[in-house]
Amino acid sequence: MADHAALRHSRHALLDGIDDEGVAALQAARVLLIGAGGLGCPAALYLSASGIGRLHWFDGDKVDATNLARQTLFGPADIGQFKVAAGAAALGRTSPETEVIAEPRFIDASLLDAAIPLADVVLDCTDQWSTRQLINARCVANRKPLVSAAAIEWSGQLMCIDPRQSDQACYACVFDPQTEPVAHACGAYGVLSPLVGAMGCLQAAEAIKLIVRSRHPGSSLPSAAQTLTLVDMKTASWQQVRISRNPACPVCQSERAKAAAGRD
Ligand SMILES: [Zn+2]
Repeated sequence: MADHAALRHSRHALLDGIDDEGVAALQAARVLLIGAGGLGCPAALYLSASGIGRLHWFDGDKVDATNLARQTLFGPADIGQFKVAAGAAALGRTSPETEVIAEPRFIDASLLDAAIPLADVVLDCTDQWSTRQLINARCVANRKPLVSAAAIEWSGQLMCIDPRQSDQACYACVFDPQTEPVAHACGAYGVLSPLVGAMGCLQAAEAIKLIVRSRHPGSSLPSAAQTLTLVDMKTASWQQVRISRNPACPVCQSERAKAAAGRD
């Protein structure tokens, strides 16, 4: 490591479970980040500050005045700019060693299938039910780990999905794609600013641990996989709920059937 990089990442290098090899793993890592809103801004900020090598970042939205209270990479001068472009400029000032590939467009299945195989881990920082289900389905099909989070009003949730592990639940095992909840757009219901910051940081932390574990076999870092983490900021309470694979899941069960048919 160059001296300034060694100094920058020295506190991670001192951490049990990360050390110098973990720092090197982060510097070689490629993250696909979908969404540049309240979750995506803190996730991108802390991943790049932690030395992630490349951030591939999708969002077709532009900055508006209602975003500024939560989306802390942006200021009034960014209003009207594509979020990923303004975000990449902000990260260029704070963490110039991270390569940021800014894609000012909304993802679809074909874009996901092109981008997911190039990434070590995917972060879902979107706020639409159908998009969340699509990202999960394409990560399962591409056997790529996914860190998913959501936040509304005072409540947040976090879930880690690793389709490389055959016994693990995917997002659709827990949240049936056919049963869309009552629409919870934050424009209608509101959302606490520090809540999205905390949930985006939790996503960054799980992505960091996943990368270090994958590329540094000596690491003893545990995972939040197989749990649904629920955060209530009104009462400052956290809860972890054990989750398990649904044998009738319309997403991961059909992918397993396809894989089994391919082996016959
Ligand atoms: Zn599933």
